[in-house]
Amino acid sequence: MKKMFDEQQAMMMALDISGNHVMCLDLQQNRLFDLHGKAMFGNNVGLEVCYNYIHPDDHERFRTFIERLSNGTDKEAECRYRWNYNYTGQGAPDWHDMHGHAIAEYADGKPVNIIATLTDESESIRKEREVEHLSERYRTIFENSIIGLSFYSPDGWLIDANRIMRRICHFDSDQGDEFFSKMNLFDMSPFNEVMDPKHPEEYWACSLSIIPERDMRVYLEISVHPIYDENGNLIYIGVSANDVTEEREMYLNVKKNDIEMQKLNESIKNYEAELRYMMQSCMMQTWRISLDRDVIEFYSGLNTVVRSFNLKQMQQIFVDQEAEFVKSLSNLPETLRKPLVYVGQMYPVVTQSTSERQWVQINCIPEYDEQGRLLGAFGVWRNINDLMSKQDQLRKETKRAQESGKMKGVFLANMTHEIRTPLHAIVGFADVLSILETSEEKQEILTVIKNNCDMLLRLVNDILAASSMENGSVIINSWELDFAKAFNDMYETLRPRVQEPGVEFINDNPYDTLRIRIDADRVAQVITNFVTNAVKYTHQGHIKMGYRLETRTVDGKQREGLYLYCEDTGAGIPLEAQDKIFDRFYKVNDFVQGTGLGLSICKAVANAFNGDIGVISDGNGNGSVFWMWIPL
Ligand code: ADP
Repeated sequence: MKKMFDEQQAMMMALDISGNHVMCLDLQQNRLFDLHGKAMFGNNVGLEVCYNYIHPDDHERFRTFIERLSNGTDKEAECRYRWNYNYTGQGAPDWHDMHGHAIAEYADGKPVNIIATLTDESESIRKEREVEHLSERYRTIFENSIIGLSFYSPDGWLIDANRIMRRICHFDSDQGDEFFSKMNLFDMSPFNEVMDPKHPEEYWACSLSIIPERDMRVYLEISVHPIYDENGNLIYIGVSANDVTEEREMYLNVKKNDIEMQKLNESIKNYEAELRYMMQSCMMQTWRISLDRDVIEFYSGLNTVVRSFNLKQMQQIFVDQEAEFVKSLSNLPETLRKPLVYVGQMYPVVTQSTSERQWVQINCIPEYDEQGRLLGAFGVWRNINDLMSKQDQLRKETKRAQESGKMKGVFLANMTHEIRTPLHAIVGFADVLSILETSEEKQEILTVIKNNCDMLLRLVNDILAASSMENGSVIINSWELDFAKAFNDMYETLRPRVQEPGVEFINDNPYDTLRIRIDADRVAQVITNFVTNAVKYTHQGHIKMGYRLETRTVDGKQREGLYLYCEDTGAGIPLEAQDKIFDRFYKVNDFVQGTGLGLSICKAVANAFNGDIGVISDGNGNGSVFWMWIPL
């Protein structure tokens, strides 16, 4: 008895610990009793009362469970149903998940009682659901991860792969892939080379992955993580893969673009440098007017501002304030509306000095924004000082050429006269010669003929000399001689030409002897020309020919030289004619005998000597001094 009692006690304790409740259904009376534990809603109640507390959806199941036990179909049966613990009949029901495990007690072969153990499984079911829910959540995260994830068993067989991984690896179905499920992780490249199947370690790589069987060719960022349980046993190998093909292509494109940009920048730089150089050598600069900022800027190159003004100051940089263009600048928005070209003088704006003026050509192009609003203008200004001075020179040259053309005409007319006069004299007197009787008369006529022949010869010589000098070919041959003596000889030779009674011919020779190296013939040619001219224009007073040694500065160096001159008290040279007198064919008075060649020959000789030539005359009829200086 004692033993039985102890056993019962132990069983009751065990039932309590596991939270079980034992009830009995008396089938004759259809009433319920508590066998162990406290009644859920009362003791000794009718079976039908139970249905008030069982969830309506579970009535059917519960009823079948009881029926099958009570009609002998089942000897033992289980039933799960929900039970409302809220016995107050008010408020929301408090459902618990109950598990009933029952056996039928038989008497005389018929079931008389049903003994049931009832367990409240609410808590464990809730936990189970929670676990289910949690794993579902993880499953969703795994499946929807934005990178490819897969799990392998410790020995390298594929367990699961998420959507992205299936897509990257071109799995043949959503459930899995035959090829990959037969392919061991440790046999796959690149893992076969880097991972030890016995001790897989963390691994990271970014490389091109090619799996021809799955038509896969992608750049992957792959990492491998071995996963251990709390006891340090390897349970999974996680593999993540990120398809970076697009990023890589983008990166390569960006790099390619970068290189192209660099090249482009380089060529823009080169172009800019070329342009800057070109503009510098053409003396050009760019400028820009901004109406909004009220500024005009001058640039060096394309974008370095070297000088800027406000628009009011701008007008001041032009020299000619009355020019149409300059005046119109007072209404800039109107002026800038059409392209402009202005040529004029302005103060040098870039050097900041306002003392010098420069000729500029300005091109101006209006600039509009997308809405058609006038922003200002831009363009280039070009320093055309050189161009203008060349143009000026050209103008002078043209004028000179025109004048020289005119002079040539006069020269030809003169020539006819100059040749005819002595020729007529020669022919006429030669005719007379035969009828003259006395030898004195004949001698006189012969002298006239000889003089006219000399004149003709001189003329022809002059023309020949002038035409040979036209090619710039004056040859100087110097030799050593006593120039004092040579000069006296020249004087004597020229003396017969000075025949007018009121004119004294003077020889100003400061030396008795003077040994120098010189081309005395050329010097004689010049002196002869000077004296011949002086004779023509001097009718009273004197003609003086002379020379002296004189040192002059040539190209910064002191040079000893010979100064020769012929002074007369004749007509003199008008001031305005003095700079033209040495030009070919130039004559002050076209009606006076002469070709206008003599002095131009003298000038050519002086140039050939590297010397200098000139005339001194007050231009008021007080005579003139023609001089030449030549280095020795
Ligand atoms: P031309 O044969 O006409 O004399 P030149 O070249 O020797 O040619 O002289 C040019 C011109 O210079 C002359 O036509 C004359 O008008 C002027 N001229 C030259 N020498 C003198 C002088 N001593 N006095 C005044 N006029 C002169």
